[in-house]
Amino acid sequence: MAFPIKDKIKNLNIVIGCPIGCRYCYARNNCRRFHMTEDFSRPQFFPEKLRLFETKEPKVFLLTGMSDLAYWREEWRQQVFEKAAQTPQNSYLFLTKRPERLRFTTELENLWFGVTVTCAAEKERIGILRRNISAKHYHVTFEPLSDEVGEVDLKGIGWTVIGTETGNCKGKISSKREWVEGLAAQAKAQGVPVFYKEALEGIIPGEEMVQQFPKEFGL
Ligand code: SF4
Repeated sequence: MAFPIKDKIKNLNIVIGCPIGCRYCYARNNCRRFHMTEDFSRPQFFPEKLRLFETKEPKVFLLTGMSDLAYWREEWRQQVFEKAAQTPQNSYLFLTKRPERLRFTTELENLWFGVTVTCAAEKERIGILRRNISAKHYHVTFEPLSDEVGEVDLKGIGWTVIGTETGNCKGKISSKREWVEGLAAQAKAQGVPVFYKEALEGIIPGEEMVQQFPKEFGL
């Protein structure tokens, strides 16, 4: 039985808001439903949440569950990186769909930068991520996987996540088993851990649900 990724990786929404406007964005709906900010298309920083980085036990946090790193202001990023440097017991994950907007270098060992790729046309984001962000760790999230991605170069990538679209949004596309398995086989061949999100149950037989983490997460 697969477990939900949220059992291990906690969302810490230090920025809320994103102007990209994906059809399937659950964060926008939650933001409106719970009146988190006035306008989801304008990202807002919540610096008071930085104290949540001060954990006793090591944790893995996703900091972009309701935003895209490419639309964070630079000063927000700096404050977050400074706090991450003071809390090396934790790992911090960031995702973007617009790596072309980012350009920076960090030597911090506990930061992981990733791109989302949902189809073949988006896989160039992986190369742009590696070129534009000089960092210790990278990851790729193939979610919601909406088409065959084809051959991918996972050089330097430390983790891949694969997931299908959830919810009942108009135009919903379910991933096909062969798309998922094609990516997983490439990751395995390139020595990259793979994590199937729990929603793939039903598409992938239960005994074949792979849920691996990088050893650096300590999970
Ligand atoms: S990039 Fe993420 S946060 Fe932004 S609209 Fe798309 S799904 Fe929502």
